[in-house]
Amino acid sequence: MSSEHVQHMDQQPFNLHVPPPLITATNEKFWQGAQEGRLLIQVCANCHSGIFYPREACPRCWGQNLDWRQASGDAVVRTYTEVWRPGHPAWAAAVPYWIALVTLEEGPTLTTQLLCPESVRPSLGARCSVRFTNVGDWTLPFFQLHPSETEIQP
Ligand SMILES: [Zn+2]
Repeated sequence: MSSEHVQHMDQQPFNLHVPPPLITATNEKFWQGAQEGRLLIQVCANCHSGIFYPREACPRCWGQNLDWRQASGDAVVRTYTEVWRPGHPAWAAAVPYWIALVTLEEGPTLTTQLLCPESVRPSLGARCSVRFTNVGDWTLPFFQLHPSETEIQP
């Protein structure tokens, strides 16, 4: 696909030694895309649903003919939580941080870390974009609030 391009890459890595993702035959292409700075999702050839996380069959119609496509990287915040006690001790150096569910323009929702300035609380429906971030040996698709969403309200 000629329209594919490297999306936002964060040049300031988190120097954390976190557990790696579990790479499988099903999700390998997603993680390969992430390492290259491209957010790849599956699209069902039968019902055209955007699909995330990577799977063998479409969750809507059970079709098994799934193609890969680069998502725009634009999303809105559905919900979030501020993490002070991470699920794995390797993330302790990064607290507090925001974990959010964001819904991509293409439809599917994913769990991600939401990057936002210290003084800002994300709002539901806030626009955000993918920002690939190096964490240890991995490149993870974090999301960053759109600049217009980070103005501090009086
Ligand atoms: Zn389908």
